[in-house]
This record gives sequence, structure tokens and C-alpha cells, in this order.
Amino acid sequence: MASPGWRTRPPFVALWQGGAMGHHEGTTQDPTRTLDAAALTSLREDAAADLPQTAALRHALHRVPERGLELPLTQRLVLEALADLDLEVSTGSALSSVTAVLRGARPGPAVLLRGDMDALPVTEQTGEPFTSQHEGVMHACGHDLHVAGLVGAARLLAARREEIAGSVVLMFQPGEEGYHGARLMIEEGVLDAAGSRVVAAYGAHVMSSTLPSGVVASRPGTLMAASDTVRVTVEGRGGHGSKPYLAADPVPVAAEMVLALQAMVTRQFDVFDPVVVTVGRVEAGTKDNIIPDTAHLEATIRTFSPATHAVVPERIARLAEHVAAAHGLTASVEYTRGYPVTVNDAAEVARARRVTQTLYGEAAWFDADVPVPGAEDFSYVLQHVPGAFVFVGATPAGQNPADAPYNHSPRARFADDALVPSAAVLAGLALDRLAQGA
Ligand SMILES: [Zn+2]
Repeated sequence: MASPGWRTRPPFVALWQGGAMGHHEGTTQDPTRTLDAAALTSLREDAAADLPQTAALRHALHRVPERGLELPLTQRLVLEALADLDLEVSTGSALSSVTAVLRGARPGPAVLLRGDMDALPVTEQTGEPFTSQHEGVMHACGHDLHVAGLVGAARLLAARREEIAGSVVLMFQPGEEGYHGARLMIEEGVLDAAGSRVVAAYGAHVMSSTLPSGVVASRPGTLMAASDTVRVTVEGRGGHGSKPYLAADPVPVAAEMVLALQAMVTRQFDVFDPVVVTVGRVEAGTKDNIIPDTAHLEATIRTFSPATHAVVPERIARLAEHVAAAHGLTASVEYTRGYPVTVNDAAEVARARRVTQTLYGEAAWFDADVPVPGAEDFSYVLQHVPGAFVFVGATPAGQNPADAPYNHSPRARFADDALVPSAAVLAGLALDRLAQGA
């Protein structure tokens, strides 16, 4: 682990600030102090000693990235890595997931740890020695580290089985990148895989920039946005461009909608619970003197609270239909829900902060002051059970967190070192929560 070189105001704070305030659950109280420091110290040492194994698995996964819900090579590597840990392993039907249940020596509640497994349609340009062998596919979001980190956590927990009262559900999930894999695994029963509903859930995401390697960051309440898509078709009536009064021109109506959407955002929603609407696609017509029958708009909608996420589709439909009606036209609106808002439980974030700081010192934790406007399907898990999602810095040594290529870039590189805190913090969270009891 790189030791952060800052004191009171780390330089990455400025990188993080400047976004939306978002939904906040208020001041955090850590309700428990259940796991002693000695147990966490041994986790830290064992996780560090296991780095050669977790890094080797990460490199193997990185060479064979797969996209979507069917990841047969990735699934096989996970099953091999778990084979000698004495877990109850099952695989998914609708997707190539792996669910593994680790039973402690004594009965108790169950907790869930999650690692997503899929890659992106990106052609790798990192020059890493373990670079992707699959043309046009790359682990550009670091999910290879999530899989290897979760396997590392499983090994740490398996070695401590005698101290565990309860069970740990290990959720190896395909299809995070837009395929709703977490929702499918919930439908196939992952939250009840141990025989009772898990009482808490934890997940981590590595970042190739912004955070120094090994720094863990999160916040209570909203951590990430909801991301939806809307398609609007303005239905008019085509005609000759010289005689628009004989036609019903959809183009100025669509243009009015683009601007009205921005007025809606600022006039109808709280500035501290913002909505971001970007009309990324506008399409109509064929030639300067022909009025088309229809015009099309496509927009992405980002929201930061469940309440706003719930009302925004109706507001957009109302606006589009009524702007069209004002001009004697009609509009059809197709609203597609993406991932919900990722909302952390305040007490579980406080637990994550304490576990991280006990493991790696005060400076290893960063209280993120604003959410991240990306979206994440671990949000589905957090709709059902309290938990915490955290970011783990993985900026490679020698690169500046301020300008290192960001996740999803073909040049995004992730430090193997980040596997150590990923595994130790996840295992620490599971042990700490189970030590609290039901
Ligand atoms: Zn990701």
C-alpha cells in the first residue's frame, strides 16, 4: 500500500468536490464496537501475505474479459479459486453467477459480500503484461480486482471459520455494466442463500484515478445516482417547407422540449436534490425544404434520491405531451428505468470507516462529501438490506490521482496493491457485523 503523503487536506478532495450535494441521511453514528483491534491486525497481515495469489488471479481474469450476463471463463476461474475453501457453491440459471456460502463454526446471522465480474467493450491500451487477449473487450472498470478481492476475502474468512458465528454469502455477479445482474441474482435468491435473509451487505469498487491507492471512500445516504433513459417521439404531419401552415412541424416542438426540460430541472426540483437531464440525441428530417412527420429525442436522466427518481418519469411525460399539445401535435414518451439510487446505510458506513481506519490508519479513509453521478446495480441489494458500498483507490504508483486515466478508459490501469485493502476491508466488515449478532 502506498502511504498517503498528505495531512489535513488531501489533494484528491478537490477532485471529488464540485458535484451535486445529493440525498444525505444525516450524521453517522457507529452503533457497535464489536471486533477487537488484534483480529483486524491479523487480517491486515494475512491479506498482505496473500497478495501474490490474489494478484495472480486478477491477472488471469484480466486476460480473458467477458461481457454481459454469460461469463463462462470468468465463472470457471472463480469456481477453481473457491474449490478448496469448503464452501456451499451454486451457480445461476439466468446468468453465470456464483453464489458461495461460508458457514461459521457457530450459528448466527448471515451477511453478504459482493463482487461484480463483467468487462466492457473497450480495446485495451494499457500495455500491461497481462493485457486482454479478447479483441475489443477489457476489464476497464476494474471488476477483475473485485472478483480477486472477494476471493481474497473468502480465504481470510475461511481461515477464521472457528471464530465466526453465522454465515457469509459471497455474491459473484455478472452483468453490472447495464444488464441488471444484481437484480437477477436477487430474483434467484442470493439474499436468502444462507437459509435466512442476510442482515447486511457490503461491496467495493476500485478507482483507477481520483483516490490514491489504498484510500477507501464512501458516504452515508446517496453514494451514486440513478440513471434512466427517455425517448420522445414528436408526432406531426410532414409537408413542404414553404407552406408549414399546411403541415404540423415536429421540429420546433422538439426544440422547445429540449429547452423546457432544462427549465423543468431548475424550476421543479430542489437544487440540493438535483436532476441532470442531457438530451444526447436529436433526430428529424431528411432535407432543408421537407417538413418531416416525426422528430426524436433521447436523453439520460440522473437523480440522487429515491423520491425524485420516483416522480421524474411523470414530470417528463407531462412536459413532452403538453408542449406538443400546445402546438396541436402529440408526443409519445418511452421511459426506461436504469439502476436505482445507491443509498448507503449510515451506521454501516460508520462501520466501514472504523474497520478501515483500524486496519490502515486514520488517513486511509476519506469521507466523500458529494455523491458520484455514475450508477451501480448494487443499489438493488441496498434496497432490500442495509449495507455500505465503498470506493477503493487503485491509482498505480507513479501516476497522479488528479490526471490518471479514469475507469472505462482504454488506458485505465489499476494497482494490484488495492487487492489487499479490498480483501481485508470486506472480510473485516463481515466479521465485525457477525460479531454484533442478529
Ligand atoms: Zn464498475
